[in-house]
Amino acid sequence: MHPLSKLDHRYVWHPFTQMRDWLKREPIVIVSGKGTRLWDAQGREYLDANSSIWTNLHGHNHPRINAAIRRQLGKIAHSSALGLANEPAARLAEKLVEAAPPALSKVFFSDDGSTAMEVALKLAYEFARRRGRSRKPKFLTLEGAYHGDTVGAVALGHIELFHKAYSGLLFRTDKVMAPYCYRFLFNRAKPERADAREYRKCNWECVGKLEQKFAAQKKQADPYAAFVVEPLMQGAAGMIPQPAGWLRRAAEIARAHGALLIADEVMTGFGRTGLGAVREGERPREPRHLQKSGLARTLALPLFACQHEGVQPDFMALAKGLTGGYLPMAATLTTQAVFDAFLGEYDEFKTFFHGHSFTGNQLGAAAGLASLEMLQTTGSLRARQRLEQTLNHELQTLWRCPNVGDIRQVGLVVGVELVRDWRTREPFDLRARVGIRVCEAMARQGVLTRPIGNVVVLMPPYCTTPAEARRMVAALGEAVVGLPKSG
Ligand code: PMP
Repeated sequence: MHPLSKLDHRYVWHPFTQMRDWLKREPIVIVSGKGTRLWDAQGREYLDANSSIWTNLHGHNHPRINAAIRRQLGKIAHSSALGLANEPAARLAEKLVEAAPPALSKVFFSDDGSTAMEVALKLAYEFARRRGRSRKPKFLTLEGAYHGDTVGAVALGHIELFHKAYSGLLFRTDKVMAPYCYRFLFNRAKPERADAREYRKCNWECVGKLEQKFAAQKKQADPYAAFVVEPLMQGAAGMIPQPAGWLRRAAEIARAHGALLIADEVMTGFGRTGLGAVREGERPREPRHLQKSGLARTLALPLFACQHEGVQPDFMALAKGLTGGYLPMAATLTTQAVFDAFLGEYDEFKTFFHGHSFTGNQLGAAAGLASLEMLQTTGSLRARQRLEQTLNHELQTLWRCPNVGDIRQVGLVVGVELVRDWRTREPFDLRARVGIRVCEAMARQGVLTRPIGNVVVLMPPYCTTPAEARRMVAALGEAVVGLPKSG
């Protein structure tokens, strides 16, 4: 065993990992990366098919982000945001506000997705109280929701496998049916293969359920303070896309009932959801302003999922891709109204008493500025568009596999749900570890990703070439061959 593997085995406890299994085999020890590629301590090369758990945007070891961090390192790595301002954080906040939906005008920095959601949660809670809407504000989230692993974020979540053990620690949040069309009780469309025109045949019962939830709360002393949503696609729930129009309608319902909207764009932000979602068999559509002006007005491009449906959140949580996937940094964007509710004389103690040691870190902000600049270039836009189309095209080949039940793509996020038989949609028992086994087989072919249960995720960096995208999909296709059939 490589000495680094031994060290890891001896001392490191890995996240979301059964360590008994981990200790049975030699781990892949990553020592370097460049673009889409990663190399391990044995010199083996891999494609990073999940962008290092959904974080990396432009590829590893990118010269522009490296240069931005080095430049900043020559000045200072970190000084506190408690009592002090700094240049890169101020500049990054400006750029984020420019790129975000219009009413978001203030930026609160933190460290990762979970902390960005904690900030949104606490601000929304206190804002609702100060506005006199509620004395003990309540939150509504989606079935299968995942918003992070800190305790507040876990309370917003509804993944039993992850969250049940800690239920005694949590405050209660209500959940409502998510639009999981593939396993949707009310979806009358028959299982089909490649042609997905009939993917969804329903009467928007999920929207009706949301309406009912809000209506039932209306007369209570504490109506919902906020509706929390991962816009366009729920990630850790199993890459579950929302049908076109769902997000807009859900946001309208929340608004009509006076609730705030918290958009968790930790996964979906920074161009991940593409230029126009490819869902239900649709080809990507160009946003209207691009149709008129070609690719020149790159600054006006939607970088966030909410913008695809013209939804205006009160809070938007960002992390993962914020620094191009380089450093742990997050941000919660909010409105002037929320900001104003925390203004007062010192001795009114309206201050938002919350923050972290590394809030507004200069190295992270410098990386974030470089990443954001690159995202807004025509070159990046074209590459993303091409990658989205290549993935869409290549994924069609997977419909041949009887164990591929559903292929879900929103922009540059892909979830392939594996089932015992596509006709019956019978799921594999989680204990069979089908997703894990498929990903292990893919790793042997030099393609790295992680499953969510029986859903295999592809979420490549934006610099992935068509040939590399083809390799990723082909590796998945080959790994699926040999899975047990039903009957
Ligand atoms: N929200 C969403 C939608 C996420 O996907 C994640 C992480 N997968 C988080 C929050 C938590 O982010 P982090 O792991 O950076 O705390």
